[in-house]
Amino acid sequence: MSESPVRIGVLALQGDVREHLRVLGELGAVAVGVRRPAEVESIDALIIPGGESTTMDKLVRAFDLQEPLRKRLAGGMPAYGSCAGMIMLADRLADARPDQETLGGLDITVRRNAFGRQVDSFEHDLHMPALRDGVRDPLRAVFIRAPWVEDLGPQVEVLARVEEGEAAGRVVAVRQGNIVATSFHPEVTRDARVHEYFVGLVRRVVP
Ligand code: GLN
Repeated sequence: MSESPVRIGVLALQGDVREHLRVLGELGAVAVGVRRPAEVESIDALIIPGGESTTMDKLVRAFDLQEPLRKRLAGGMPAYGSCAGMIMLADRLADARPDQETLGGLDITVRRNAFGRQVDSFEHDLHMPALRDGVRDPLRAVFIRAPWVEDLGPQVEVLARVEEGEAAGRVVAVRQGNIVATSFHPEVTRDARVHEYFVGLVRRVVP
C-alpha cells in the first residue's frame, strides 16, 4: 500500500500560522498556508490558528474564503482550531458582537474571553485521555484570552475540562466527527500530542 502524504492547510490570514506549520512539519505532514479560494480546494484538512477571531472573520470574508471553507467543512473535511480557531469553528457564539460570523461545523456555543479580561494568560495541566499517554502524562496547556465551550450538542465529545480553580469543569477541548477544537494553544509549546492526534485522525479519514 502506498502512503501518499496528507496535505494539511493552515489558514494564513492572521494569528500564529508559523507555529502550526512548524509542528506539522515536525510530525512529517505536508503543511501549506491557505489564503486563496483555490488553495481551499487543494487541501485534505485545515488548521485554524489562534489569533483574533473578529479580525480573522473579517479577513475570511474579504478574501472570499467564507463560502469555500463552509462548503469543505460541511462536506466533512477534517479541521482543527486552537483558541480563535475554536471560535471560528463554533456554530454559535455567546455575547459576541452581532456582526461577528463564524464558519461553524461544531455544534457548540463558545464564549469569547471567557476566563475574564483581567486573566490575560495562564497555564494549566490537563488530562486528555484521547492523546497518547494522555491519562498518565498531562498536557501543559497555554491559555491566552481564551474562550470556553459554554454548551454543546449531543454529537460533541468532550476531550478536556479545566481541572481546578474557579473555572473547574469548563470544557476546553472537543471533537465532533472530524472537527477538533481546543481553547488553548498547543502550537506554542513543545508538546505536539494534540497535533499528533489530529494528524492521526486526518490519516484515518482521508482516502
Ligand atoms: N480572544 C481571542 C478572540 O476572540 C482569541 C485569543 C487567542 O486566539 N489567543 O479571537
